[in-house]
Amino acid sequence: MEQKIIIYNTLTRKKEVFEPLNPPFVGIYVCGPTVYGDAHLGHARPAITFDLVFRYFRHLGYKVRYVRNITDVGHLENDADAGEDKIAKKARIEQLEPMEVVQYYTDRYHTDIDQLNVLKPSIEPRASGHIIEQIEMIKKILEAGYAYESNGSVYFDVEKYSKSYHYGKLSGRVLEDLRANSRELEGQEEKRSGIDFALWKKAQPEHIMRWPSPWSEGFPGWHLECSVMSIRYLGETFDIHGGGLDLQFPHHECEIAQSQIAVGHDTVRYWMHNNMVTINGQKMAKSLGNFITLEQFFKGDHPALVQAFSPMTIRFFMLQAHYRSTLDFSNEALQAAEKGCKRLMEAGRTLQNLVSQLSGKQSVTIEKVGDPVLQLKQNCYDAINDDFNSPVLISFLFEAVRTINSAKEKADFLTADELLFLQQLYNDFVFDILGLKDESLGSGNEGIINGLMDLVLVIRQQARANKDWPTSDKIRDDLAKLSITIKDSKEGSSWNID
Ligand code: ZN
Repeated sequence: MEQKIIIYNTLTRKKEVFEPLNPPFVGIYVCGPTVYGDAHLGHARPAITFDLVFRYFRHLGYKVRYVRNITDVGHLENDADAGEDKIAKKARIEQLEPMEVVQYYTDRYHTDIDQLNVLKPSIEPRASGHIIEQIEMIKKILEAGYAYESNGSVYFDVEKYSKSYHYGKLSGRVLEDLRANSRELEGQEEKRSGIDFALWKKAQPEHIMRWPSPWSEGFPGWHLECSVMSIRYLGETFDIHGGGLDLQFPHHECEIAQSQIAVGHDTVRYWMHNNMVTINGQKMAKSLGNFITLEQFFKGDHPALVQAFSPMTIRFFMLQAHYRSTLDFSNEALQAAEKGCKRLMEAGRTLQNLVSQLSGKQSVTIEKVGDPVLQLKQNCYDAINDDFNSPVLISFLFEAVRTINSAKEKADFLTADELLFLQQLYNDFVFDILGLKDESLGSGNEGIINGLMDLVLVIRQQARANKDWPTSDKIRDDLAKLSITIKDSKEGSSWNID
């Protein structure tokens, strides 16, 4: 934990040294998907960005509680609190119960995101599971005088709030502009001002998702769930709140206002926002025909794709850009990422082979590791500590790749200690922190079998080096009973299943 992490705080617009509120605990809340359609690149980016953050804190030994919600109610089609609920609309069109839509797309989201090797959050709460708490928060805001009821709906009084607090401090929006823009939007009749936002909406007769409340049968406003669930699981002050840049306004700005009134202060210590994804320089949109789901990427099943791109290619490509930069997808860029990722994995296998030839040596004597190799590790930490700068980290990992390839060509290029040191570096940064996987080793059980067989062969090789023939023969004979044949040659041992 001795690493000093710098985070760019979107609220202060400054890089700040990260100091957790209650070390060794770190609390992270990230806005998850609204589940009414298949996951696409826009979903993959925050998932991977905050997976990197989650993984790095865990790597350093922090006890991280990572909360990523599922929005299953209240996300309306337009920002002025009008239009249909996105999930209810899908349910109506497909003649399903809204919770069937939610379950179906939540399951599909998990399947796609799992393939990207994104770790599961510690808690994945749903908005519809926290209606009571949302009603309680609305009562508090009403009691404090910063909300009003209108025709069964409840609205947050932004005009009043902005007299004492800075509405727009996160997004940099200016009230005058917001007022001007809101005049053109529909669904403003019940509001005192166009910039007020809904805390509770009375359900129209055709609206199927509804709960009883003191004001009407209805449903909570979209912004409320994240205020409620972050406080519920992380407390009234917590470390990091993340999400896509598109959520900065109005979603996160409204969260700040709600929490300020409900608990009397800001709840979030560091705000982090990942930038957006474009495709060939354009915004992703169904109407532009460039709306490609993750599953379509994995299968190559979209007219805009020249081939399939594996989950690790997508993950590597995202990590090659800093999370605060925009990321533009094209077939060429993805093909280049595929190549780069393969090179990194090939060097990992080369390193594994070189290490397995060290016959039993396992511990590193740091004094025997040369400065250039030691410096490489320091550089990797410096990169990730600098606001999770994954592209710079990857550039240092490619330095490791060049070193490993030189060691392959020239036997004494690295000492045994240096090889083991590099293996640890690879395990830490490539697999543990960046969360990349060697896809050539197969997924799931196949990957496990390959790993186990590597281990068995290393043990057998050590037995042979020690002239322990009974152990070496027992391994070969017992594997034969499982229909696994071992072949010994000058280059080493290989195996296959008959
Ligand atoms: Zn949210």
